[in-house]
Amino acid sequence: QIRVRYAPSPTGYPHVGNIRAALFNWLFARHHGGSFLVRIEDTDRTRYVEGAVDAILDGLRWLGLNWDEGPIKGGDYGPYFQSERLGKYQAAAEKLIADGFAYRCICSSERLEELRAAQTAAKLPPGYDRHCRDRETITGEGLKSVVRFKVPLSGNTTFNDLIRGEVTFDNSLLDDFVLLKSDGFPTYHLANIVDDHEMKISHVIRGEEWLSSAPRHVMLYRALGYEPPLFAHLPMILGTDRSKLSKRHGAVSIIDYKEQGYLPETMLNFLTLLGWSLDDKTELMTIGQIIENFSIDRVSKTAAIFNVEKLDWMNGVYIRDLSLDEFTDRATPFLTSGIPEAGDFDRVYVKNALALVQERVKKLGELRDQPELTRFFFTDELAYLPADLIGKKMTAAPTLAALETSLARIEAMPEFTIDAMEISLRSLAEELELKPGQLFGSLRVAVTGQNVSPPLFETMAVLGRERTTKRLHAAVA
Ligand code: GLU
Repeated sequence: QIRVRYAPSPTGYPHVGNIRAALFNWLFARHHGGSFLVRIEDTDRTRYVEGAVDAILDGLRWLGLNWDEGPIKGGDYGPYFQSERLGKYQAAAEKLIADGFAYRCICSSERLEELRAAQTAAKLPPGYDRHCRDRETITGEGLKSVVRFKVPLSGNTTFNDLIRGEVTFDNSLLDDFVLLKSDGFPTYHLANIVDDHEMKISHVIRGEEWLSSAPRHVMLYRALGYEPPLFAHLPMILGTDRSKLSKRHGAVSIIDYKEQGYLPETMLNFLTLLGWSLDDKTELMTIGQIIENFSIDRVSKTAAIFNVEKLDWMNGVYIRDLSLDEFTDRATPFLTSGIPEAGDFDRVYVKNALALVQERVKKLGELRDQPELTRFFFTDELAYLPADLIGKKMTAAPTLAALETSLARIEAMPEFTIDAMEISLRSLAEELELKPGQLFGSLRVAVTGQNVSPPLFETMAVLGRERTTKRLHAAVA
């Protein structure tokens, strides 16, 4: 029975590295028909960030990473918030003490600080000096104490990692780490292994930054008499300059990607490739294909590179692949936030307008951030100066005359089509001995208010004869 979990700490908004771990767990569960759990590791109250849980769950929902057990959904092994499971950790700590694997430490924070300062001064690695390890029983009454694990003083701890193979740590390099803090809250290590055991987790799939915690976890599993899960530590994600992924590289909250207008299917595809590959060359894959082929065997040991340019390229491909209806549904919210009137236009008109930009955007957010891409479709109030109408090599009078003749021709066309405009207006340019670009440039400004727009005749066709002529009238008035 495959059971995996995503165990975020609500200490901030979930960034890509974190979500990649969620995704790999989800893919593994879906591939094997197992269960994907979400467990909120919220025992570090000093680092708790209000709103982070919602952001985490929203991110998962947006990507479609549905969970079988966890917050809101519930399940047989809940509660799925560690802060609601404190009794279990306390009981485990007591058991470890009773069995001689852990002890209470009453060292004051002043003593620990002095110790740290002395170690720093002597250039020694930091770590607890085991002062309380061999004391006679400490009666906790009134004394502030923490519970520490008795790390074996010598020997090695070895375990098998499904990605890295056999991993061995020298026990003497580990100090007696804290299991339970003086406020009765567990540390990550204790809570994590108690829950992975109680929730019957079969595979722990998480980022490489947790590899150094794994020997502590293995020791704890053994001391508690639990069967450890299988471990798989995912490769790091680096920026294109091979430095640690940071905000600068786009390592921002997953919700930011949604707001920038990346499609969730792009994100799934892209994040999957951060450490996993189908065959070293396939880039574009549907989620169905990924689930079908996903395996830990093809997770790489070497760091993955987060390349925003590749992400943008991929999103452009996914956007172009959308049917016009789909594109319209997804793009409209981005439009209406910049152009409230877009909602007042009928669907066919909005679709026709968007058809002209679908090929040009890489992120839906461009529609919001570059209103010039679509604004002119939705408003007759064009803000251009009379001088903008007049081409560089032209003067006012012939420009206005050319626009007036164009207007007359457009009004007289039996049918207002792209072809009809093309034929009639191109020959007009010839008759007036203008370069087509000169005439079309003025027309473009007259109907869109801008020097840059989608192809002119297509744009006018979308606007329709009525809007187009109205704007030309306004231009020559
Ligand atoms: N709470 C840890 C985190 O924030 C979980 C690490 C693990 O998966 O063991 O990533």
